[in-house]
Amino acid sequence: MTISFDGKVAIVTGAGGGLGRCHALELARRGAKVVVNDLGGSVDGSGGSSEAAGKVVEEIKAMGGEAIANGSSVTDDAGVANLVKETMDAFGRIDILINNAGILRDKSFGKMEQKDWDIVVDVHLNGTAKVTRAVWPIMKEQQYGRIVVTASSSGLYGNFGQANYGAAKLGVAGFMNTLKIEGQKDNIKVNTLAPVAFTRMTENLMPPEAEAMLKPEFVSPGVMILVSEDAPTGNILCAGAGVFAAAQIVESDGVYLGRDDLSAEKVLEAWDQITDFSNAKPFFMGGEQTGKFFEKASGK
Ligand code: NAD
Repeated sequence: MTISFDGKVAIVTGAGGGLGRCHALELARRGAKVVVNDLGGSVDGSGGSSEAAGKVVEEIKAMGGEAIANGSSVTDDAGVANLVKETMDAFGRIDILINNAGILRDKSFGKMEQKDWDIVVDVHLNGTAKVTRAVWPIMKEQQYGRIVVTASSSGLYGNFGQANYGAAKLGVAGFMNTLKIEGQKDNIKVNTLAPVAFTRMTENLMPPEAEAMLKPEFVSPGVMILVSEDAPTGNILCAGAGVFAAAQIVESDGVYLGRDDLSAEKVLEAWDQITDFSNAKPFFMGGEQTGKFFEKASGK
C-alpha cells in the first residue's frame, strides 16, 4: 500500500460508530495505532457509555491492529487531558488527530433554545478546539502533525433547521484557516472534511435507499489523504457516495470606488461588479486580502 501509517499514532474522536469508526478502521488497516474515542451518547448528545469505543477497538484487534478505547467527552477538559495522557502512555506520540465527534439538535432558529445552540457549538467547535489544543504542543515537539476537522455542507452552504450546527461547522473551517498558518513551521498540516454519509445522525434525514450509496466507508479514503505524510494543508475536502470535491472560500476581484465622494448609492451602483465572481480568487491568509485592497486603492 502506498499510503501507510506504519509507526503512526492516531486519535479519532467520536469513532464508536458512523464515519469515525470507518476512519479508525482504515487507519488501523494501514498500520496506525489508533485511539478510539467516543462518549457513546445519543445523537442529541444525551447519555454516554464506553461500549461504542470498545467495540471498534475489538474490531481493530480482530484484524491484527493495535488500538485502545477512550470514553471521554471532547467537551470535558479533564476527559480530554486523560485522552491525551492515555494515548501518550500507550503509544508515546500523537501523529494524527481526526476531530469527528458530533451531535445534532435540529430546530428552526425561531424555535431553537439557547441550550440547543450551546451544546451543539460546544461539541463541534469547542470540542474540536479542546482536543486540538491538547495535542498541539506534542505535535510541535515532534515536528509532525496531521489534523482534520469535520465540517459539513450545512456550514459551508446552509441547511434549514441547522443554524447551531452550521455555525459550528463553518467555525471549524475558520479554525483550520488559522491553524494551517500557525502549523506551517512545525510540519503540522490541518485540513477540513465535509462528508456526506448515511449514519445514525442522518438516517432520519435521508431516504432509506440512500443507505447503500452513502456508506461512511466511501468517505474514509479521502480522509487518509488529509492525514498522510504528503497531506496538503488548508484544504476543504467534500466526500460522499464515492464523489470527491474541494470547496474554497473565494473573493470577487472587487472594485475601487474612490474615497472622496464614497456613498451608499455609489456602492449600490457598483453592486453587479462587486458581486461578479468571474475573476474570483481564494486567499491563503487574511492579510493577502488587505494587500489586494491597498493595491486596488492605489490604482495598481
Ligand atoms: P454519528 O452519530 O454516527 O457519529 C458521531 C459520534 O460522535 C457518535 O459515535 C457519538 O457518540 C460521538 N460523540 C458525540 N458527542 C461526543 C462527545 N462530546 N465526545 C466524544 N464523542 C462524541 O454521526 P456521523 O454521521 O458519523 O458524524 C461524524 C461527523 O461527521 C460529525 O462531526 C458530523 O457532524 C459530521 N458530518 C456528518 C455528515 C453525514 O452526512 N453523516 C455530514 C456532514 C458532517
